[in-house]
Amino acid sequence: MVVALPNPTTQSHTSAYHTAIEQYNRATQNLSIDDNILDYMRYPRREFTVNFPVRRDDGQTEMFTGYRVHHSTVLGPSKGGIRYSTGVTLDEVRALAMWMTWKCALVNIPYGGAKGGVVVDPKTLSQRELENLTRRYASELIPLISPHSDIPAPDMGTNSQVMAWIMDTYSMTVGYSVPAIVTGKPIIIGGSEGRTEATGRGVIITMMEALKQMGQSSRSGTTVAIQGFGNVGSNAASFAYEMGFTIVAVSDVMGGIYNPRGLDIPDLLEHVQATGTVMDFRGSENINNEELLRMKCDVLIPAAMENQITEDNADHVQAQLIVEGANGPTTPEADDILNDRGIFVVPDILANSGGVIVSYFEWVQDLQAFSWDKDEVFRQLQRIIVRAYDETQSNAEKFNVDMRMGAQMTAIQRVADAMKVRGFYP
Ligand code: NAD
Repeated sequence: MVVALPNPTTQSHTSAYHTAIEQYNRATQNLSIDDNILDYMRYPRREFTVNFPVRRDDGQTEMFTGYRVHHSTVLGPSKGGIRYSTGVTLDEVRALAMWMTWKCALVNIPYGGAKGGVVVDPKTLSQRELENLTRRYASELIPLISPHSDIPAPDMGTNSQVMAWIMDTYSMTVGYSVPAIVTGKPIIIGGSEGRTEATGRGVIITMMEALKQMGQSSRSGTTVAIQGFGNVGSNAASFAYEMGFTIVAVSDVMGGIYNPRGLDIPDLLEHVQATGTVMDFRGSENINNEELLRMKCDVLIPAAMENQITEDNADHVQAQLIVEGANGPTTPEADDILNDRGIFVVPDILANSGGVIVSYFEWVQDLQAFSWDKDEVFRQLQRIIVRAYDETQSNAEKFNVDMRMGAQMTAIQRVADAMKVRGFYP
């Protein structure tokens, strides 16, 4: 049977994979890379689909579908998160795996790109059902994952507890503890200091680099709006608040809140802990997610999901700087509009790379059975992400392109160079 390859030219305009391929086509236009290598890097290396039963608390079993895609292993073992969401599709996982390849290459850590996901709303499962689902999905992935081939991590809808169950399932299968099989796990079983905060912190470090480049020096005079208040959004908000910026709006899947005088983020975190949402926070006005994207502010941080800034709303964005905490929040059509309007964008593969950078530190610590303190983790994070920012900016200037193209071109060239010396097997 001939299995059709994912055709990068026939993707719908709303698909994340369309965005990933369109960005790849644009970035590679300006690079002189051998056509065979260009074609090779366009496709995911492996795609794995699993359908598996999960026993619910009422004794019934229900079937679930999960995926794991390895886009590239050219620079090292593949690395990427696992997402639990009803919106998960093979196309989405393909796109996210490709972006992981470019992200790891851009920040120059020895990993390829992967991503996984299960089609499920984790909020509809009890804790025991979530554990059953995770352990069964992890056991289905065993032929694909190992500390030297593919290392999962958290993403939307998953967290350190989910990583602990994956680590335990893998360890029980092989017969000994293997902390390096996942990153983003609890510190007590080999997680790294600073991993939880890493992505949000990296977002704010790159935001500060961009503001410096734009000549904006007042922190309290800089207003910030953040879409998504999960791991990335809430940690970005906390670090920006700590750094003295004024966060005027945040949102989650239920909606958002606005206070032009600035939100008290530690109080807001307590409110979310108590109520499960940012909505109805005292002293602020409720808004919806679309209003948040169009709000008057200096910096907009999309930190929820893909395809949020599109050709329908890019004309209405009022921020002068967008820092992409989420993966793929801006479509290529919106990129063109933002560029024409002179809005500066720090692209996802740079802005949210703090997570995979500290995941890399966690893996290194696990392999060496030695742990670093938080200061060391944050110092190394700062060093690596600022180096990647500078390299992106200098390539953007050299090729006269925007920061997204600067980042993608740097990353794609690096993978192509490695592919060239490795050669095609056999
Ligand atoms: P999370 O599940 O912890 O939080 C997601 C947040 O987005 C929640 O507040 C949720 O309510 C909100 N949200 C969901 N759907 C929404 C919608 N339609 N409109 C507005 N808000 C919505 O997830 P996360 O780990 O914070 O990931 C967020 C984004 O950052 C994703 O694109 C993910 O791929 C990316 N990312 C995460 C990490 C990481 O380390 N967790 C690293 C790099 C990139």
